[in-house]
Amino acid sequence: MHIVHVTAELTPVAKVGGLGDVVAGLSAQHQKMGHTVDIILPKYDCLRSDQIDDLTRIKTDLQVPWDHGMVTCSIWKGQVHGLSCLFIDPHSDVGFYHRQAIYGQVDDIQRFAFLSRASIEYLWQIKSQLDIIHCHDWPSALTPVFLFEIYQKLGMTKPRVCFTIHNFKHQGVTGRDILETTGLHRQDYFCQVNSLLDLHNPHVLNLTKGGIVFSNFVTTVSPRHAIEVIDENQGFGLEPVLQSHRSKFAGILNGVDYDFFNPATDPALVATYHADSLAGKQENKHALRERFSFEQSHKPLVAFIGRLDPQKGLELVEHALFTTLKQKAQFILLGSSLDPAINQHFKTLARQFSDSVNAHIEVGFDPQLSREIYAGSDFMVVPSKFEPCGLTQLIAMRYGSVPIVRETGGLADTVFDIDYSDKPISKRNGFSFKDFDETGLDSALQRALACYHDTPERYQNIVLNALRSDFSWNNPAQEYLDIYESIRT
Ligand code: ADP
Repeated sequence: MHIVHVTAELTPVAKVGGLGDVVAGLSAQHQKMGHTVDIILPKYDCLRSDQIDDLTRIKTDLQVPWDHGMVTCSIWKGQVHGLSCLFIDPHSDVGFYHRQAIYGQVDDIQRFAFLSRASIEYLWQIKSQLDIIHCHDWPSALTPVFLFEIYQKLGMTKPRVCFTIHNFKHQGVTGRDILETTGLHRQDYFCQVNSLLDLHNPHVLNLTKGGIVFSNFVTTVSPRHAIEVIDENQGFGLEPVLQSHRSKFAGILNGVDYDFFNPATDPALVATYHADSLAGKQENKHALRERFSFEQSHKPLVAFIGRLDPQKGLELVEHALFTTLKQKAQFILLGSSLDPAINQHFKTLARQFSDSVNAHIEVGFDPQLSREIYAGSDFMVVPSKFEPCGLTQLIAMRYGSVPIVRETGGLADTVFDIDYSDKPISKRNGFSFKDFDETGLDSALQRALACYHDTPERYQNIVLNALRSDFSWNNPAQEYLDIYESIRT
């Protein structure tokens, strides 16, 4: 099968959160399984070009219809860790992708609507015989609208579209003028309740809603989250749309790229290790403590890694820090936010602990350090308010750091409490709590720390269960292929 992803993010060249990891991991697995995969993304000026091989301009004159005229684009081709990538590079004065940032610009809607239009225009012009276009979140949600409303009529009849919603919070809500700008000229047709019109505000359009309506299949990133967004009011207003498209909607758990995130080979670690030989994990813990001038002791080390976004349950993250210290354990936080006020709050907290030998707060984005923390920590706390899938707990388990999570979304689908799960004991791989409050968190955190101190053998068994869990892309990649196949026929 020939699959093309249209995406705003790709790890490691344009990574913001989990979306970039998913596109990279899923594509690599499909490629391994013998399918042809291309990934189309913007040629941001902040791309990590050191991670791109053989970057070559393959086209200089792609004419993309835009704003009643044409924008000329170059297309660049390169390989990112063995994946074939096409980069869109418009020659326009507005410099859509020359902002030293991936998101956060006032014209984000235009920037990514352009990505969708240019991607499909390119595929049409080269007469690509692709089978599946896989779009991700609101930035590429207009792609199926262009395909089925413009390009299919021009003869592009083969491709089908799978649309994955990684996060329902961000939906691409915008004014009607985006229709004229992108060449969707039939205002009356698109501004309908059963089309792009937002359900809650008749003056605006909702790009994610358009993606749901126009795609052949829609997924979100865990089975539990699929239920939450359709039936449990977590769809940020999209529940009725999902309900009426229920038959083409499913949750597929994200995987983790087990080749990249591998404690047996990871060059970021001071010592490698695996389930049958865990000594190296202790060396990583020792090195991590040295790096942050921590006391070397028998204390367990609890960590948090993630975007400092309210979604992640920041008040509980902070509470976890204080509970951990009260329980005579150690804590490391690595995170950053797009919101300067949140960064400032955590920087102030960092100063409070600057002399601590038991706590460290690192405000920043540092993939190498993140892997040192996954490897060096004993527990990873993920107390999210909502979590469509969550990769942090999956990577933590891959590195033998036991997750302590709130039972929501993908966290509930992947972490099985050692005391309360109905899974067989060999599948129980962490600690979880239900209610989003301090009492809930404390109950799980205190059970975890007590387990570490009082029953070390039991703790070791949980580490082994976590290390032996399989959250690779093997199963989810096959599930996506089954969906692709079902919409192709
Ligand atoms: P989300 O997509 O909501 O941000 P996920 O848990 O799905 O959350 O994915 C987060 C990914 O980003 C993980 O790979 C995590 O290790 C990484 N990550 C998050 N924050 C940081 C950071 N400050 N430094 C390095 N990596 C980070």
